[in-house]
Amino acid sequence: MKSNRPENSHQAALLRLLRDGPRSRAELADRAADPAALAASATSALPTGGAYDHPGRMSRSKLNVELDRLVELGLAESDGFAESRGGRRSGRVRLSRNTRFAGIDIGATSVDVAVTDGELRVLGHVSEPCDIRLGPAHVLDRVLVLVGKLRDQNLFTQLHGAGIGVPGPVSFAAGVPVMPPIMPGWDRYPMRETVSQELGCPAMLDNDVNIMALGELHAGVARQVDDFLLVKIGTGIGCGIVVDGKIYRGVSGSAGDIGHIRVDAFGPVCACGNTGCLEAYFGGAALAEQAQTVARSGHSPYLAERLAVTGTLSAEDVAAAAAQGDAAAIKLIRDGGRHVGIVLAGLVSFFNPRLVIIAGGVARLGHLLLAEIRSVVYRRSLPLATGNLPIVLSELEDAAGVVGAARFISDHVYSA
Ligand SMILES: [Zn+2]
Repeated sequence: MKSNRPENSHQAALLRLLRDGPRSRAELADRAADPAALAASATSALPTGGAYDHPGRMSRSKLNVELDRLVELGLAESDGFAESRGGRRSGRVRLSRNTRFAGIDIGATSVDVAVTDGELRVLGHVSEPCDIRLGPAHVLDRVLVLVGKLRDQNLFTQLHGAGIGVPGPVSFAAGVPVMPPIMPGWDRYPMRETVSQELGCPAMLDNDVNIMALGELHAGVARQVDDFLLVKIGTGIGCGIVVDGKIYRGVSGSAGDIGHIRVDAFGPVCACGNTGCLEAYFGGAALAEQAQTVARSGHSPYLAERLAVTGTLSAEDVAAAAAQGDAAAIKLIRDGGRHVGIVLAGLVSFFNPRLVIIAGGVARLGHLLLAEIRSVVYRRSLPLATGNLPIVLSELEDAAGVVGAARFISDHVYSA
């Protein structure tokens, strides 16, 4: 396995800076010499990634030595010359054009795989429906088929890393899912090791919510935001927590597992075995079940007709019904939004985020859902916390997971 890695923290920080695009040696030297000035001009030519992406104080000659070494290692390459700033023109450096990362986003009902370059631009993205309950061997097989499709498109010959997201709790240290409620057969499956061996590159595993939060941080609605929450409402419900531009995972990796916060002791039974969990009220599975009940009760002609035609109902059907003005569907969305809002109001009081992002398949219920969540959070949290708190929908939608997974593995590869 060929996996050149940076040899020290200076090289690693330079690589993370170059992930935002080619830079002249002069720009990189400025950044190394005067972090405060660069932070102040964050909105100008150089996007800033916060203290994390700062190369550390380095003399000009030390910086040039490290950059030359990165070129030797094949991690970076020369990229012509920058515009003159009055003196000699400064040579530009960029990440190696051959760098390729895979972002693998395994959902409850679908698999997405993308290949990116070193700057995390998506070069190809393929997806197919896939039931996670069929178990790890089957799903892994499909992942490898999708990776093969991208290879067949000549998008890469060698991957430099693969980031993987799964819809359940993950032991970050071991790289395995741990008793994931909606993933039967996956407990402790060595996902990280298996993917690493199959693809011949380093791999990292995290839960899909953290991955999506990284995607929004890198290229979505949270680009300039270091402290935010991403609430994913899909088949399950979870929350990505970003503190100081980094994912907060907690002691054992389960931070943000908000789907199993109880909203009503006498509520419905949840997949986890408890009663009244948020997820039991408003995960995709709960919503589909409620839609079927409504359809059978005769309160929604639209849903009844859909059910008769397809034999099943999903969150999309509820969205379509609501768009037609179906009162029962609108009530389902409002009730769900209220339950999410109640939990979120508690999180906002606790965490005081700068931004809250609502993402995931059920989030496509859109502005009706968003309006209900906003009204509950703004009513229930204190004004100091919500005074300037945007609650918005994801910008990246399906791409958030794969971009975030690529960012996740690039953080690992570009570390020392
Ligand atoms: Zn539960």
